[in-house]
Amino acid sequence: MQEHTLAQIIFGPWPEDADDAWIEEVEHEFHGMMNSLLRQGQIYGDYTHGIIEGELRAYVSLPARDALDPKHFSKYAAADLTKLEQRFGQPMNVTLLSPGNVISLDGAWKNPPWLVLLSSVTDGTGVIVTPNLDPLPGYTLPLDADTYEQLYFWSRNYQRHEGIWFNGTSLEVACLKAMADPLSDLNRLAARLAYEVEQAVGKPVYTALFRHYALPGDAETQRPCPLCGADWHVEGELFPFCCISCRLLGEIGPSKDENHWARIGTWEERLRRMAGRSWLRRSRRCFGAADSDRSLLG
Ligand SMILES: [Zn+2]
Repeated sequence: MQEHTLAQIIFGPWPEDADDAWIEEVEHEFHGMMNSLLRQGQIYGDYTHGIIEGELRAYVSLPARDALDPKHFSKYAAADLTKLEQRFGQPMNVTLLSPGNVISLDGAWKNPPWLVLLSSVTDGTGVIVTPNLDPLPGYTLPLDADTYEQLYFWSRNYQRHEGIWFNGTSLEVACLKAMADPLSDLNRLAARLAYEVEQAVGKPVYTALFRHYALPGDAETQRPCPLCGADWHVEGELFPFCCISCRLLGEIGPSKDENHWARIGTWEERLRRMAGRSWLRRSRRCFGAADSDRSLLG
């Protein structure tokens, strides 16, 4: 198990004569830097801060002891840090309060034969994980800051969908479809981002399809790949479904409660919807002919 490191960051003495304009600028730069660190996976969860013993200090959890090394800073975090260091007249000082058991995650992405873009099991330290679900924070991957920010925001949106589905509100089924249907906007974006990461790391990067409700009997394990219709079931503990060509992983639905929702995200449902669309297209052609007839009459 990876234990996170708790760290204290001291920026410098808070001037007693600080006016509102100065405070506003410091707050803008401070929160700008902290949010950049969050999006890069250098810190996780909520950070807390205050004026303590006359100094601006922040307390953060790190995925590894060296996560705040300046070499890991994105251009955005580095720009805000430079302004803060000029403003306080001293370099940022980092003290590790509890060292954790991970010294560094540099290069951790190089050994696994493939990686997964996954939102629901991560705790904020990374949306790219190893086949064993160990998170790989964004700052350790060979990605530019803009790509990792897109991954971060995709993950946040995914988690919000999951929260709404789990709470069972009026948007429950819409959120379930967004997560379980491989052709939803949310999952199409995941596939595009996974492809970008794959180009950067030079090895397969899969997406994992959400699954909760199961089809009855053997139908659940015999489901074909919902994107191409090929055999999908494999021998795998964490991901018992894998389509190499679609880069799509899946799991067995743990719940048998709502079987009418178990068809969401299956190949059969996709065929049914495609058939529905062709019926719609035929209907539209009929309506179009009727409209042109009317225009001739008009
Ligand atoms: Zn497939």
